[in-house]
Amino acid sequence: MNWISNYVRPRINSLFSRREVPENLWIKCPECGSMLFHRELSDNLNVCTNCDHHMAITPRERFSKLFDGGTFTEVSVPAPIEDPLKFKDQKKYPDRMKIAQKTTGEKEAMLVAEGEMGRTPIVAACQDFSFMGGSMGMYVGNAIIAAAERAVELKRPLILFSAAGGARMQEGILSLMQMPRTTVAVDMVKEAGLPYIVVLTHPTTGGVTASYAMLGDVQISEPNALICFAGPRVIEQTIREKLPEGFQRAEYLLDHGMLDRVTHRNDMRDELITIVRMMLGLGPAVRGDLPAPEKKPAPKPDATPDAKPEAKQDAKADAPKPEAKPKPDAPKPDAQKKTPPQEAKKA
Ligand SMILES: [Zn+2]
Repeated sequence: MNWISNYVRPRINSLFSRREVPENLWIKCPECGSMLFHRELSDNLNVCTNCDHHMAITPRERFSKLFDGGTFTEVSVPAPIEDPLKFKDQKKYPDRMKIAQKTTGEKEAMLVAEGEMGRTPIVAACQDFSFMGGSMGMYVGNAIIAAAERAVELKRPLILFSAAGGARMQEGILSLMQMPRTTVAVDMVKEAGLPYIVVLTHPTTGGVTASYAMLGDVQISEPNALICFAGPRVIEQTIREKLPEGFQRAEYLLDHGMLDRVTHRNDMRDELITIVRMMLGLGPAVRGDLPAPEKKPAPKPDATPDAKPEAKQDAKADAPKPEAKPKPDAPKPDAQKKTPPQEAKKA
């Protein structure tokens, strides 16, 4: 009878128990409480369709909507030494890293990519708040330096999406050292006459606000994002005063001259294209859902094939196929390449 209990029954059970409904088909908006279908939400870039609340979005999702045809190439980031302080609180730092890597599917808290956005070549870096609060450790520092070096090498603008709880305490002083390191990296981009644009997303706080996230030539924010060095609760407890409504939120900071723009996530791509092209002195932007740029035959001499894995994003059924020909009115990417980067030097 053993084979019945050991073999047949588990098989039958496994056949019938597989029909579970995935738990996260419906997502509740934390702001207005309405239930949103996951596909509807991701099509709307994780912005609530009812109240326009901007929910968190992963770097990969953001890049798949930012770059033409959702195609981009990851820029490899040198790995820093692991757990230099042998840090331990309730858990060991390497264990925390493993959990974060498992839950997010990412290596670290920042993703760097190069590609085209409205037929405008750019380098972009995006911080991942879901990975240990997007905390700025040595890897994030390395990522920003890699992004800046790549931008200078390719003579492309650098766009950075910030989201962080601040420095990574498990790396102690080494994480604080990333503030001057990233500042120097940003200076390198500026000295090359290339635009550096920062998009601040909710929340951008701590040492990140005190370094690369505030150094953009243009400072854009998503609506209602919390942007601060010390949070409102800490300030309230320190000065023992009630803070005004909307304190340290994007709109408040725009009113007080800390930001240039507050832009809805759905308009962000078009706005970035316009700003970048204006700063580079390029022609008017190409609008619409563009297919992925055609593969260029020239390989980069210094690029090792495995160092820059092609990151093709999950193409939606309605998304244009990468091999689709660009629209006839769309200028070829090669045509734009002829614009010498010296023209990029703006006032
Ligand atoms: Zn909502």
